[in-house]
This record gives sequence, C-alpha cells and structure tokens, in this order.
Amino acid sequence: MVYDLIVLGGGPAGYLASERAGHAGMSTLLIEKKFIGGVCLNEGCVPSKALLYSAKVFDYTKHGDKYGVTVQGSSLDHKAVVARKNKVVKTLVTGIKGALKKNNVTVVEGLGEITGKTSDGYEIKVNNETYTCKRLLVATGSMPLVPPIPGAKEGMEKGYVLTNREILDLDHVPGSLVIVGGGVIGLEMASYFNSAGSKVTIIEMLDHIAGNTDKEISNILMKNYQKKGVEVKLGAKVVEIKEGSVVYERNGEKLSVQADKILMSIGRRAVVNGIGLESIGVEIERGHIKVDAHGQTNIPGVYAAGDVNGTSMLAHTAYREAEVCINNMLGKKDIMRYNAIPSVIYTNPEVGCVGETEETAKQKGIEYEIANISMRYSGRYVAENEGGDGICKVLVDKKYRKLIGAHMIGNYASELIFGAGIMIETEMRVEDIKEIVFPHPTVCEILREAIFEL
Ligand SMILES: Cc1cc2nc3c(=O)[nH]c(=O)nc-3n(C[C@H](O)[C@H](O)[C@H](O)COP(=O)(O)OP(=O)(O)OC[C@H]3O[C@@H](n4cnc5c(N)ncnc54)[C@H](O)[C@@H]3O)c2cc1C
Repeated sequence: MVYDLIVLGGGPAGYLASERAGHAGMSTLLIEKKFIGGVCLNEGCVPSKALLYSAKVFDYTKHGDKYGVTVQGSSLDHKAVVARKNKVVKTLVTGIKGALKKNNVTVVEGLGEITGKTSDGYEIKVNNETYTCKRLLVATGSMPLVPPIPGAKEGMEKGYVLTNREILDLDHVPGSLVIVGGGVIGLEMASYFNSAGSKVTIIEMLDHIAGNTDKEISNILMKNYQKKGVEVKLGAKVVEIKEGSVVYERNGEKLSVQADKILMSIGRRAVVNGIGLESIGVEIERGHIKVDAHGQTNIPGVYAAGDVNGTSMLAHTAYREAEVCINNMLGKKDIMRYNAIPSVIYTNPEVGCVGETEETAKQKGIEYEIANISMRYSGRYVAENEGGDGICKVLVDKKYRKLIGAHMIGNYASELIFGAGIMIETEMRVEDIKEIVFPHPTVCEILREAIFEL
C-alpha cells in the first residue's frame, strides 16, 4: 500500500504528528528505531523532571525549619528515585502508544532509511522491508554533542564520561561530578546531583551560565547554585579529561578539578546522517534540515519538524511544528511562529522566559521600556519562598506598548510563563493586560504587578 504519510522518528514531533494525521484520516506509518516518546520522554524532559522533583521534596525536608517544620533523618534514596523515574516514563510512554493506536497509526520498530522516490512516492526501508508514502515527515531529533577533547572518548568507553542518556540511569550518586557546559541540561543535572549529595562543579566557557537567558536572571541563578555549594568556573575551557579529574584552562592558567563522573552537556546536534536524506536531495543547512515556515523542506511533500530542523530544540516547539506540518499537508494554511516560545529551567528556583530579552531587543533595534521587580511583590511568593531573591522583568515595545518579553526567576515560573506567552502571541498592550483579573494570592500576579509599573 501507499501510505498518505510516513513519519520517521517517534519523539514529540513524530508521535504527535502521527496522532494528528491519523485523527484526520490520513493512513499513517510511524517508524521508530529505539523507543516511542523519543529523547523527551525517555532520556530528556520527563526523566529529568522526575529526578528534580525528588530533589525538591528532599530539599524541603532539609530546609523545613524555615517554615517551622523540623524533619529529622530525611535522606534521598537515589535508586528509589531512579525507579520512580522509570515508572513515570513507562506510564507516559504507554499513554502515547495508546493514543497512536486510537488514531489508527501503524508503528514499525526499526531504523528507517529513505532510499529514493518512485512514481508512487517516497520509499523508506526498515528491517529489509520497503514502505511507500505520498508524504514524508522527518522527525529524527537530535543527539548529544561530544567534543573532541583528549580523553573524552576513552572516558565514555570506560564509563566515567557520561551524556544525558547515562546520567539519568546512574545507579549511585557520585562523590564528585564535573559538568562540562552550564546550559539548561547541565544546570538541571547539577541541581539534582547537588541535592543528592555530589560535590558538583560546572565548567563553562562563557562568562555566564544558562546560555541566552536574561543575564541578570542567570546571575541570580548562579548565586543560588553557589549558595548551595555548587562550584561554577566561568570563562573556563576543558582541555583534557582523565580518569578522576578534568583539566581546564582559565585566564591562561591550567587547573584541574576532581571528578568521579563527568557529564558532557555542551549541546546537541541534529540527526541528519545515515537516514538517506541525500537520496531525495533534502537540503541541509549548518547541520540541520532547512524548512520554510510551513515545515516543508526544499523537496515537495517532504517535511521536517522538531530538533532535526535545529530552530529551537525544545519539545513544545516540536509539538507545534508537527501540527503546522500536518495542517499544511491537509491543506489548512498554518505558519510556525517563534516569537512567543517559552523556555524553562526546572531548577529550584525555577526560571521561565519568553520573548525578547534586553539583549535581543537591542540587537533587533527595538525600542523598549522595561519593568524589573522583585518576586516579593507577590504575596504567595513571600509566603512560600523564605529568603527568596527572585525577580520578574517585562519588556514592552515603546511605540505600540505591546508586551514583547517576560523573564522571571522564582518557583512556579515554569507554570505561569505561558500566560506571558499568550499575551505576546496575541499582541496584548499594557492597557489590555491591566484589565485582566488574576487570581489572588498567586505567583502569577507578579506579571500584573510588573505591568502596572509601566
Ligand atoms: C536531558 C534533557 C532534558 C530536556 N528537557 C527538556 C525540557 O524540560 N523541556 C523541553 O521542551 N525540552 C527538553 N529537552 C529537549 C527535548 O527532549 C527535545 O527538544 C525533544 O525531544 C525533540 O523532539 P523530537 O521529536 O524532535 O526528537 P527526539 O525526541 O530526539 O526523537 C527523535 C526520535 O527519532 C528516532 N530516530 C532517529 N533516527 C531514526 C531513524 N533513522 N529511524 C527511526 N527512528 C529514528 C530516535 O530514536 C528518537 O526516538 C531536553 C533534552 C534533554 C537531552
């Protein structure tokens, strides 16, 4: 048979696209080589959040006295934490498999490779079987980037150098953990293992942690880490990895730090090799599949969504890109917009950001006004965050007085940031937002408070 759609890769982009296509009546085949749910469900977003929640609960027991609660003898059982994480993953993966079935999606397990095009359509080979489709969605995602640092490869073979894959299943808490790269993944793992009892050191080449996050917020986050005992080496370049230590250079000086385990978290690269893209001439640009605003590649009927297009590398972006692709395949005009995609760091305290930062607004020549207030303007924040030092910043376009960015550090930021995203997406002006009623007392009121500063 000729399928209406074949989806290559069963992560957030691939499984959601398959569900939506199946629901709309397209005959759909999903090919997944490893595990349905992709990186996000199996070795990314979900397992890391399960670990971080256990750390948060443990932290509360350790610091309960701040709230008049004394807990004696609390401990974190890492094996039990990992077992619970596995249970969470299994529950969610089972749910996705059920949704695929419900939407009549055929699933084939195996490594898919595009082999060419005939008059019937695109051909994809899996386990020596060839499948044909009218439309193809490439959703092969991304994999960890391991830099050619001397000793890194050997360390991976011997098991003391880890990527996000292995660290989430580590069967013990290492005495010392060095994290190469202070981006979101590195920071989240630093947060968990610091709470669990490791001596954690982050080595970051830039002069700040958390990548493109608002600089003031990344600074507050770093201070929170340091208060908890995490060492952060900024402006430092790892030059060698040995069994038991990491050698780095800072200000022309060669230094080293003890490391029972080393996590490589310097970034991820799109999976574009070994999948046969060249057989049909799909254009690759700087290591990613190039797509237009509809998710279509340079080849008619061939789409790409998720990390493989390299645009945002977040699961929620992958979901929306997948929907845009399917809608366009179904003849419904739909366009991907990237101006209001929230990003979150699920540490304790949490960070939530959406839209322009001061840096990006300046780069784009947007004239803006800014309000920058303490999270302590929120009654609930004060009640629940003894000694909290969070802030909330909002940026509005000076000419139209529209909200263009919101950035905050403080718990619940992960849950409330989408509200600011809606305001940006719907181009709400300061005066419109002032008319919205927020529930009281909530941390989300901080947005209202910040807007009233303008
Ligand atoms: C530790 C960690 C934490 C993260 N936390 C978050 C978070 O909190 N929030 C967030 O939004 N994002 C997070 N991310 C990023 C998120 O996981 C990705 O953005 C998301 O998984 C991308 O989805 P995808 O469908 O594009 O690709 P993937 O999830 O990578 O899925 C691609 C799938 O394709 C399969 N595949 C590849 N090649 C083939 C082939 N030839 N044949 C068949 N199958 C193939 C792979 O096996 C994989 O299952 C995190 C990532 C990591 C590593």
